[in-house]
Amino acid sequence: MGLVVQKFGGTSVGDAERIRAVAEHIQRTVKAGNQVVVVVSAMGKTTDDLVRLSKEVSKVSVPREMDMLLTAGERISMALLCMALADLGIPAVSFTGSQAGIITDTDHTRAKILEVKGDRLRDALAEGKTPVVAGFQGVSTDNDVTTLGRGGSDTTAVALAAALGADYCEIYTDVTGVFNADPRIVPGAKRLDRISFEEMLEIAASGGRVLALRSAEFARNHNVELQVRSSFTWEPGTWVVREDPSMEQAIVSAVTHDVSEAKVTVSGVPDKPGIAAKLFRGLADRSINVDMIVQNTSVHGNTDISFTVPRDDLETSLAVAQGLLGELGATEVSADSEIARVSLVGAGMKTHPGVTAKVFEVLYAEGINIQMISTSSIRISCVIDKESTERAVRSLHSAFELSA
Ligand code: ASP
Ligand code: MG
Repeated sequence: MGLVVQKFGGTSVGDAERIRAVAEHIQRTVKAGNQVVVVVSAMGKTTDDLVRLSKEVSKVSVPREMDMLLTAGERISMALLCMALADLGIPAVSFTGSQAGIITDTDHTRAKILEVKGDRLRDALAEGKTPVVAGFQGVSTDNDVTTLGRGGSDTTAVALAAALGADYCEIYTDVTGVFNADPRIVPGAKRLDRISFEEMLEIAASGGRVLALRSAEFARNHNVELQVRSSFTWEPGTWVVREDPSMEQAIVSAVTHDVSEAKVTVSGVPDKPGIAAKLFRGLADRSINVDMIVQNTSVHGNTDISFTVPRDDLETSLAVAQGLLGELGATEVSADSEIARVSLVGAGMKTHPGVTAKVFEVLYAEGINIQMISTSSIRISCVIDKESTERAVRSLHSAFELSA
């Protein structure tokens, strides 16, 4: 009994039959005595299709209109789901992000939530109705419709759970939870019963695609407990919760990989103050999310800086670096898009030395060269050549005995 936010992703509401199955599950939850606030994504590949259509009609991107276009996807699924609920005798009422009072900044196509009002959702609940909210969208402080970036419905769900004081938030998807490696690559990958917000954050940031990074961040910052689970089997999934210091932490919880980035190297940069500042300011001003950064110690006053960026931003990044070449006094900019980042995540790494050495030994034994390394207190990431990704993931998963 309580207040639950249930979010259903694109595959969960992919067709009429799926929408009816989701409605039945909401009905079961309501009949069990809970209040439910529902968040939906656009049906199936609707968002991708709309993006494609926009590219067919125009070479320039018009962010405000892009948002107007893409928010239509979630409108379709929320209305259809309310109809399916009505058919089951569950009074439901749909709300756009704007109607739900999700206020964002004005950064179209990647807006950030500033405030969640939620008054109409509370009123609907008080009237015994089930609110169904369009995910991934809000309204800006300029009164324009905005979207929160791809995969943003997860963020909507977590933000609503925080604002409404829900007991927890369920993220329904087409997998049964968070796995300790991609099951398509590692057949023995195991579903995790429970992980901490910090681990989820590192997993999402290093290529685990089950939960959008910003929603994991939001969940941690607002202490919203999540359950990632399947809308196809309805079995219990993975709980994402606050770390329990009384419990022993797994040294390694998951192996992740990310092949969506490219590496940029600026060579022959003078080793003096201000160089990195200029380069990364230039990239930041173009809203490029730089990930790993490595700078060598200088030889004869010159050094190299390498960094990774989303592959979609490679061209822009190269243009920025090229444009700054003279100002930086650097000799050359080069790029490599055939890279992968393989990471190990585990809260117990904090207190267990030797994990890093073992990672390097495993990759060495596989003959895999490490191009870049970065670590946090609970993550180790190595950039390697893309071709070796599957081998690296499988050998690390087995070396750290993560199989079911
Ligand atoms: N429909 C949006 C997307 O595909 C938002 C979401 O699914 O979370 O990115
Ligand atoms: Mg989606």
